[in-house]
Amino acid sequence: MTANARLAAQPLIGTAPSRACAVCGQQSWREVGTAQDYEYETCSNMWNFRSCRECGHVQMDPLPAPEALPTIYPEHYYSYQMEKAIHPVARWAKHRLDRAKFRWITGGRPVTSYLDVGCGDGRYLRMMIGQGADPARVHGVELDERAVQAARAGGLNVLQRRIEDAQEFEPGSFDLITLFHVIEHVARPDEVVSRLHSLLRVGGLLALETPNFDCLDAQVSGKRFWGGYHTPRHWHLFTSASLRQLLIARGFTIERQRFQTGHAFLLWTLHHWLKYGKEKKKLAEWCHPLNNLPLLALATSFDMARILLGRKTSAVLVVARKSA
Ligand SMILES: [Zn+2]
Repeated sequence: MTANARLAAQPLIGTAPSRACAVCGQQSWREVGTAQDYEYETCSNMWNFRSCRECGHVQMDPLPAPEALPTIYPEHYYSYQMEKAIHPVARWAKHRLDRAKFRWITGGRPVTSYLDVGCGDGRYLRMMIGQGADPARVHGVELDERAVQAARAGGLNVLQRRIEDAQEFEPGSFDLITLFHVIEHVARPDEVVSRLHSLLRVGGLLALETPNFDCLDAQVSGKRFWGGYHTPRHWHLFTSASLRQLLIARGFTIERQRFQTGHAFLLWTLHHWLKYGKEKKKLAEWCHPLNNLPLLALATSFDMARILLGRKTSAVLVVARKSA
């Protein structure tokens, strides 16, 4: 059976219409791409991506219906497992990069209270406690039950729910809130950003990392196979400009922005193109981000070169301050 035939044999899941542009509120769209679930093959639906003519923000339309969420996030989905699956050398490198990333985010200033949305097993919570944050004021929210259990077993404060539903936190209670590759998964990023604004103290920082649609690999492969689509789980794809616009419209000032390596997206793009575009299953498996450390290192080097040359990559990190 071909890869495309196997994908076509998956069930069709229920859908719900997308809304007006989450960034600017307009409803004037340009079609940019159509993709399927090339990573997990959970459904055979074709999903459309469209770009706002006003601000460039990209939304998936339609979206999976709420009752389809357990289907598109299957048991074996999750970055928590990915963390265990990655090579020890890659894990070591990631840890060092993470420490440098947090120094850049905070500008080296101490953080007492911290919230990580989509915290997995609490890796960043542990890191911030290790750097002097108050353990009683360090919190995470996470949906994956096993990740939550692992974090709690390590003594961390982690709630198993969406940030939209977490009413336990007092307004103005955090110095720093981070969302790494989370905002693209939520239905209403505008509402989430407003909620996070209320949870930060005045002067507090919000760090958002998310795919950047305004990059060369999306332009080249975005009609169908771009890895950043992560279809049908990435509902909102920002450009660096539309992300800044969203934050500014909700009371933030932009502190700094940088592009991050999007090495996994590069490999996924290759994988999807080979597997479903060319029906080259073996070659596609060779490009799987978890299977090929040398290729992952090559893709990382390519993106680091792009960053050094001042070019945009497929991932952007923006730090914004609650100014009032
Ligand atoms: Zn817009």
